[in-house]
Amino acid sequence: MAVFLGTARCAPSMTRLAPCGRRFRISDPAVSLCRRGSSPFRLLSRASLSEFSSLLHSRASYVASRDAAAEDAGGRGHDGESDSEIIFMGTGTSEGIPRVSCLTNPLKKCPVCLKAVVPGSKNRRLNTSILIRYPGPTRKCNILIDAGKFFYQSALRWFPAYGIRTIDAVIITHSHADAIGGLDDLRDWTNNVQPHIPIYVAKRDFEVMKKTHYYLVDTSGIIPGAAVSELQFNIMQEEPFVVNDLQITPLPVWHGQGYRSLGFRFGKVCYISDVSEIPEETYPLLRDCDILIVDALRPDRSTSTHFGLPRALEEVRKIQPKRTLFTGMMHLMDHEAVNEGLKKLLETEGIDVQLSYDGLRIPITL
Ligand SMILES: [Zn+2]
Ligand SMILES: [Zn+2]
Repeated sequence: MAVFLGTARCAPSMTRLAPCGRRFRISDPAVSLCRRGSSPFRLLSRASLSEFSSLLHSRASYVASRDAAAEDAGGRGHDGESDSEIIFMGTGTSEGIPRVSCLTNPLKKCPVCLKAVVPGSKNRRLNTSILIRYPGPTRKCNILIDAGKFFYQSALRWFPAYGIRTIDAVIITHSHADAIGGLDDLRDWTNNVQPHIPIYVAKRDFEVMKKTHYYLVDTSGIIPGAAVSELQFNIMQEEPFVVNDLQITPLPVWHGQGYRSLGFRFGKVCYISDVSEIPEETYPLLRDCDILIVDALRPDRSTSTHFGLPRALEEVRKIQPKRTLFTGMMHLMDHEAVNEGLKKLLETEGIDVQLSYDGLRIPITL
């Protein structure tokens, strides 16, 4: 038996997919639903369509959960309404949580991935990314940090729910697939919402993009009429720069030996999503930090490329932010259980640390 998992494109490789301008229609024979029996595809399609339908038609419930999330965030140390905010578009690892391999493992049940299957679970995590929203002269500005492999799913979930339409810029931390894999998906914005999107990227990562997204960097080879993302690439140095009136300060860190990644500071918020070591020269940039968002991959130990929770807590004690939210959690991090343990540190050490989750909104002052 053949199971169709998706057949909207015919080309075998990504390199041939991108310039192809064919639109995906639900009426396409290749994606129409089987009308008889209960094939896995039919069940999968039903589940997907049911979730999609709830996304489109139950905005009220998302608005309610949005307000609850904002209230959850806003009630902790913030004075009243803030015009600026961060939205966590994703807080998980590259493969996403739940892991498919955990759900198909016949020998071992993974408690966190099983919990993460349930829609609305705070253990359900997509690629690490945040959106910064702040008032511009005529409307809210939206600056995205990273657009990884699951950017489309994140945007599908949170853009309609939070009434977000434009993307004023994308700032790139580094060039791993979970940070840049969604650049192609920006075509929906540049085709249908706005003419182009500025991308801010370090030179070394731009060199990678010339290979991974060559058709977006050099659009001269695109067949006329075919649609790709219209991106304007801006090379950033490791020094402050301004995007739409917002000053951004790069926070250079190591993400594995000899591999540079950038965190970013805006106002008194510091965001470091992928880090194994903070160089001494970066610590002064982290002083007087109200909100620190930092990598904490697993509960027990660090890896060669990421902080684990014990190391992340050591850094929190050193940096002394007013509040810390961890991100980039793998499936060994159970949201409720880990947060319960972290809550105790507020009483014992006076440090305010919690795990973030997809869709969380934090009011900020810029
Ligand atoms: Zn798992
Ligand atoms: Zn990475």
